[in-house]
Amino acid sequence: MAATQKDHKLSSQKIALIISLLVALIITCYLAVSPYLGFKQRVLALALTFSSCFLLVYFSYEALIFREINNIYGSLEKFKRKEFKRMSSKFLFRPDPLQRIKDEIYLLAERNQKEIEELKRLQAMRREFLADVSHELKTPIFAAQGFIHTLLDGAMDDERVRDKFLKKAARSLDGLDTLVQDLITISQLEKGVIQMKKAPFDLNELGLEVLEQLESKARTRNMTIHLLNAPEESFEVLGDRGRIKQVLINLIDNAIKYGSEDGNIWLSFQDGKKKTLVTVRDDGPGIPKEHLNRIFERFYRIDRSRTRDGSGGGSGLGLAISKHIVEAHKSTIVVASEVGKGTTLHFKLTKVKV
Ligand code: ADP
Repeated sequence: MAATQKDHKLSSQKIALIISLLVALIITCYLAVSPYLGFKQRVLALALTFSSCFLLVYFSYEALIFREINNIYGSLEKFKRKEFKRMSSKFLFRPDPLQRIKDEIYLLAERNQKEIEELKRLQAMRREFLADVSHELKTPIFAAQGFIHTLLDGAMDDERVRDKFLKKAARSLDGLDTLVQDLITISQLEKGVIQMKKAPFDLNELGLEVLEQLESKARTRNMTIHLLNAPEESFEVLGDRGRIKQVLINLIDNAIKYGSEDGNIWLSFQDGKKKTLVTVRDDGPGIPKEHLNRIFERFYRIDRSRTRDGSGGGSGLGLAISKHIVEAHKSTIVVASEVGKGTTLHFKLTKVKV
């Protein structure tokens, strides 16, 4: 861009110089043919015409045009500083205001274009998010609505049917409640409203707590959860115990939901130099390669037909929430999986200094 503008190097001085020289030369030519003036007088007339012309043209250019341009440039500079603090001041001392103004306009246009593209991307994301949310909300609402209307249309008279339908409606509404809670959590995590309350805690103790909480759910699928570390071991880490518990529950709950019936789940902790590695592994059907880096996206589910109500699926928010929580602990959650063999998810937490 700058290279194409190198040839426009006209300044007010140069313009004034050229015009004055031309005017002085023309007048001197007239005088040269005059028989009344001597050589010295002609030179003096040339010098006088040249200098007065130069001053006149130079100042009028400076005052009328270049100063105006400088004013425009000044406003541009102010706008740029306000909007794009990162831009350098390398254009500030360039002698050619036309060149400077062109450079500035190109830069601003380029930046505005980038901003427009970013806004378009965010708008598309927002649209997609809204579509996903309404779709997810629709499923449990329609289900509960269907059961309640069937009851009102007469099914209520049969006690057995009434109980069954009421339970189904309640389950759909429980799913709706969990979904709304998850939505609130993820939007707060993304907004940065939720602060991690970091304090030292023992991971092994937390592991046992989570295991006790999910054991009965695992049993419904005939699965076993193994805590690989001995109960007396201790893994003191720094983190938000409640949020890390939420991550462990999400990961183990997924292993139960998506693992194989009669299968196994292993939870283990391993001390490193400064960090402790937390691993959740299962021997389920695994995740195909093409889905691996998408499962942490909001609402991403491999099998979309599995929903919250009854078919053992979720909303696709669990891993997105877990990823946010782990990242708020300055770590990353990593997945490794092989179809037919199982899935492993792990992340690290900072050890408490002793
Ligand atoms: P969901 O609420 O649907 O469980 P998650 O965000 O927790 O959502 O998980 C996203 C998707 O990743 C799930 O729908 C599932 O298809 C897949 N997934 C997660 N964990 C496992 C696992 N241990 N084994 C197989 N698939 C899994």
